[in-house]
Amino acid sequence: MSQPAEVDGDDLRYADPDNPYLTEPDTEFAPVEELDADDAAAEVDLLRAALREHDHRYYARNDPLIADRTYDALFTRLVELEDAFDLDTADSPTRRVGGGTLDELGEVKHAAPMLSIDQSGDAEDVREFDERVRRTLGEDAEVTYSCEPKFDGLSVEVVYEDGRYVQAATRGDGRVGDDVTEQVRAIRSVPERLAGDPPETLAVRGEVFIPRDAFQEHNRERVEAGKEPFANPRNAAAGTLRQLDIDAVAERPLDCFFYDVLGWESDGDAEPDSPTRPDTNLGELDALRSFGLHVNDRAELAADIEAAIDYRDRLAAEREGLNYEIDGVVIKVNDRAACEELGTKSRSYRWAFAYKFPARHEVTTVEDIVVQVGRTGRLTPVALLDPVDVGGVTVSRATLHNPDEIASLGVAVGDEVRVKRAGDVIPQVAEVVESRSDAPYEFPDECPACGTAVERDGPLAFCPNGLACPAQAERAVVHYASRGGLDIEGLGEESVEQLREAGLVETLPDLYRLPDRREELAELDGWGETSADNLIREVEASTEPELAAFLAALGIHEVGAATARSLARHFGTFEAVRTASEAELQAVDDIGETVARTVRDFFETEQNARVIDDLLRFVDPQSDDTETGDALAGLTFVFTGSLSTARSEAQDLVEAHGANATSSVSGNTDYLVVGESPGTSKREDAEANDVDELDEEGFADFLAEHGIEWPPEEG
Ligand code: ZN
Repeated sequence: MSQPAEVDGDDLRYADPDNPYLTEPDTEFAPVEELDADDAAAEVDLLRAALREHDHRYYARNDPLIADRTYDALFTRLVELEDAFDLDTADSPTRRVGGGTLDELGEVKHAAPMLSIDQSGDAEDVREFDERVRRTLGEDAEVTYSCEPKFDGLSVEVVYEDGRYVQAATRGDGRVGDDVTEQVRAIRSVPERLAGDPPETLAVRGEVFIPRDAFQEHNRERVEAGKEPFANPRNAAAGTLRQLDIDAVAERPLDCFFYDVLGWESDGDAEPDSPTRPDTNLGELDALRSFGLHVNDRAELAADIEAAIDYRDRLAAEREGLNYEIDGVVIKVNDRAACEELGTKSRSYRWAFAYKFPARHEVTTVEDIVVQVGRTGRLTPVALLDPVDVGGVTVSRATLHNPDEIASLGVAVGDEVRVKRAGDVIPQVAEVVESRSDAPYEFPDECPACGTAVERDGPLAFCPNGLACPAQAERAVVHYASRGGLDIEGLGEESVEQLREAGLVETLPDLYRLPDRREELAELDGWGETSADNLIREVEASTEPELAAFLAALGIHEVGAATARSLARHFGTFEAVRTASEAELQAVDDIGETVARTVRDFFETEQNARVIDDLLRFVDPQSDDTETGDALAGLTFVFTGSLSTARSEAQDLVEAHGANATSSVSGNTDYLVVGESPGTSKREDAEANDVDELDEEGFADFLAEHGIEWPPEEG
């Protein structure tokens, strides 16, 4: 499927042009038994070089040479050979996946202090920086600047020794940071081994970030799984980098741009041809690029400070179109000897200055404070603002989060406030600039939608009226019909609001009364016969949902698709889930005390019970019949690598037959099922614990012996 790519030998970083695994490789490999140790070692070397090249092309340059499937085949072959001939090394491309879990983050002292950069959004401050530079270097010194985007991510220091990745640390206090070696190793664009001719020790500063599109996608998945979305890409990246579960880090879409050399050491006496450090900052970026590191391509040389100011203005105009967050540009004296001469202050460099973009915060007036009712009954106060342009976007409302936040901000209607927006965050009120109200804002005692007395839970306020509250019901209907629910097409937020306003759908069961009100539906603005019939058909098609889908569709707080599946599998019928006690709920895998209580509360709430009884007159959740026996009772399975279908399907299957599926290997594990591209840590643990390994074929045979089919039949 992949086009045979032209490979330019000069363009290769890791592999020789005649490496057979570069373009259209033959993936019909010789059987392992037919190889001797030398053949295997030679093939492993070629595979590693090719895979490093492919990683680099794919992750750092977005210009792959082969199809993903072909990559997987090469990867699997390498794993196979490393295993068979005991050729695993720490810097093999196979070592990147599967990191296990760390106990805690250690500390690391940086090779060179990671200082901060003076910054301002005012062009006059940038010109003053230029004057200070030229005063120090002499008025007739020719000063040019290297200009780069200022990434809004998380700074890390990454160290390579002899071209091998050895360490990564967060910035911390600039001198000592957290050890995130394993976390950064899991970022696919960070090479395990440098290409070209790197110095013996290279310490380089980079910025870890999550691309915007991947962030949106990741947040959507979190919401579908019933989790809180991340506020912005930066928070998501920062949170991820401190994760101790390395597998979880590898699943997040992290990337990293490298932009500063912190340390470059070559032992000149021992190796006369070791590479000399470039004498300009832009030259260093080129060098980093030649080592295979991911370097942003927007860096430019500015002939003078006015050109640098112009660069920032141009980048500001393109900012919203970039796939990564930036909040300004960094202007550096390009000549490194001049930088050395300029030196540092206590906390920052004298040769660099960050020229920030216009602030994404502005001052405006609070015209009103309204309270929104969420799907779970949570009451969120929102400030309605005199519309103001914040960094290019008009903002007319900003969340105030909860009653405690209002109290701590001391905000009230009429106040002048500072509103900020960072990344993709919903606008927020940062502070009160001037209080102009006579009295503090009083949070309502009653739900604005249904008048029920408000209940408090810590800083949060709730309407306890559940599905009987029209505001919650409207949100519940939207969720019920969404892709995370029963996927009823034609019921987006706007149409649900329209149906509610027309009195057609006030609670969930009303959806199923729509067929009786077809005429009214067809007469709604923008509807007509066809849309009405389509919706009715969609609704009628949803009356026999699978139990798991139905449970997820109810929108119980904390119950996303995965938890709904666990519940369905464990209890089998809706009635059993509905009547399960907290203790019984906690017996379900993945369900802890909090979720158990939430589920119990949901079904116990009288209003919910009434609505659900009504709903069940129309809807018949299909009992989960995957609980098919106890043929595997007492056995514990762990899965690693990818199988011919989703790994979760294999886990579900063995659990349905009475076995346990756990995520880490221990002395209690009976079988480690090893799919393609497996991690190494689980296999090491398996070996240490004498756990039997099964490949997918072996797994299928094993199941067949127990009368279970793998892969399971569709449907
Ligand atoms: Zn209410």
